[in-house]
This record gives sequence, structure tokens and C-alpha cells, in this order.
Amino acid sequence: MTRMAIIAHGGAGADPKKATNIQSAVDAGGSKLTHGASALEVAVMVCAALEDDPSFNAGTGSVTRVDGSVLVDASVQTGDGRMGFVASMPETPNPVKVAAALLDEEMNGLAGVGARDWADERGFPRSEVTPRQSKGKKTSDTVGAIALDMQGRIAVATSTGGCSDRPPGRVGDVPLPGCGFWAESSIGIAATGIGEAITREMLCFRVHCQISQMGASMPEAFEEVISKRFDKKTDVGLIGINQHGETYAHANTNMPWAAWSSD
Ligand code: ASP
Repeated sequence: MTRMAIIAHGGAGADPKKATNIQSAVDAGGSKLTHGASALEVAVMVCAALEDDPSFNAGTGSVTRVDGSVLVDASVQTGDGRMGFVASMPETPNPVKVAAALLDEEMNGLAGVGARDWADERGFPRSEVTPRQSKGKKTSDTVGAIALDMQGRIAVATSTGGCSDRPPGRVGDVPLPGCGFWAESSIGIAATGIGEAITREMLCFRVHCQISQMGASMPEAFEEVISKRFDKKTDVGLIGINQHGETYAHANTNMPWAAWSSD
């Protein structure tokens, strides 16, 4: 039996005290894994719990875009090659659940009003997300979760309202494969921070390759890529689980996170 594990973050640049909220969500996920839930169910569950916590910039607590709208991004990927993502989606408190519903569809991703219409057809609750004003304040407390289950299956789930002061229609790293998330061969990686910088580096796929193909450990890969490829002033953080069920988190700034493992 594989060592089971979960790790989740509450955003690069966010208040470290939020780790307490993350730990509660992660521990609830640990209990589910122990009772046989799949990595996918648990990664989505932990991410959705953080979307429901208004202190995070995801789902319910999402920040406004420059025009006052609230538009959310989310993604889910499993190690068996399935993927779903939504971008710039209005009126959706739990976009990660919509992203998960795309895993077995013909298309991987949906954006904007089309994503919302598709979610309506499938009964995903539509409701106004009460915005947090971001103007003048840096808000970066996006969320992400990774789980590895007893069968060695890995799943990554991420969700955000986007970086502060971005226009409607802006697409960050969270819904972009290889940028804000990557899961393959029982190794899962999720990123947080300034989405534009993360996207330019295709950060999660880059780090995943270093671990899965070049034999780097998670500490080696995370620390080297962040220090060599990102300006210190650009907030960025990573969480990961490897094929042995080891968890690791690293950021060039504060990043609340929490982990759970079966031993
Ligand atoms: N990466 C997210 C984005 O750019 C924000 C964050 O992680 O804080 O949308």
C-alpha cells in the first residue's frame, strides 16, 4: 500500500496564520483517504473547503477585477492523464467542482459565460460571489491541494479569484496546464504567486520534469527553479507530493500550507 498524503497551500504572500484553516481542511481529507476515498475526491474536497472559506482568494472569498467583477479560475488534473479547467467564470462559488466535472468530457477547458452556461446545464449552483475589494491591496491567498491515495493515484486541484488589479478576461496560471498545476506518474505539483511569471516559466511542468526525469528531489527542484528563474520581488510558491508520498512546500515569501500523511 502506498503511503497516502495530502498537501495544500493558501497562497504565496499570504498570512502564515491561515495555515490553521488549511490544516483543518487537510485533516478532514486525510480521514477520507483513510476510509478509501480517491485522490481526486480528496484533492477536490480540500480545495472546495478552502473556496468556501472567505479568508482565501478563491471561490467565495475571491477578489474583484479592476471593473468590480468577480471571475474565478480553477483546475483539476489526475495522474492518469485527465484534466479539467475553467477560466474567468462568473457567479461560481466552487469552480473547482466544475473543473472536476470536465475530467471525463471531450473538452478539457471552458471559459467565461460559456463555462457558466455549461455549469448551469449540469446543476452547479450559480450565485453571486461576494467580492473582496482588492484595489490598492495585494491579495494573493489563492488555494491549491494535492492528494495521493492508497492506490498510488495522484490528483491536483487549484482555484483562484486571480491576482489583484487584473482586468476581466485575464487568464493566470491556475487554469493553464503545466503552469499552475501538473500531475503525472504519482507526482503532483501546484504553484501559487504572480500568475504571469509562473506561466512564462511553465513552472509546474518544469519542476515535475526535474523530479520525474532528472531525478531531483522536491527540495532541490523547488529551491533551484524558484531562486534561479524568479526575481525575489515576484512572489512564487510551490507544493508537491512525490511517488513515495513525501510532501514538500517552498516559497520565496510567506506561504501558509499544511500537510497530512498516513504515517
Ligand atoms: N497564481 C494566481 C494567479 O495569478 C494568484 C495566486 O496564486 O495568488 O491568478
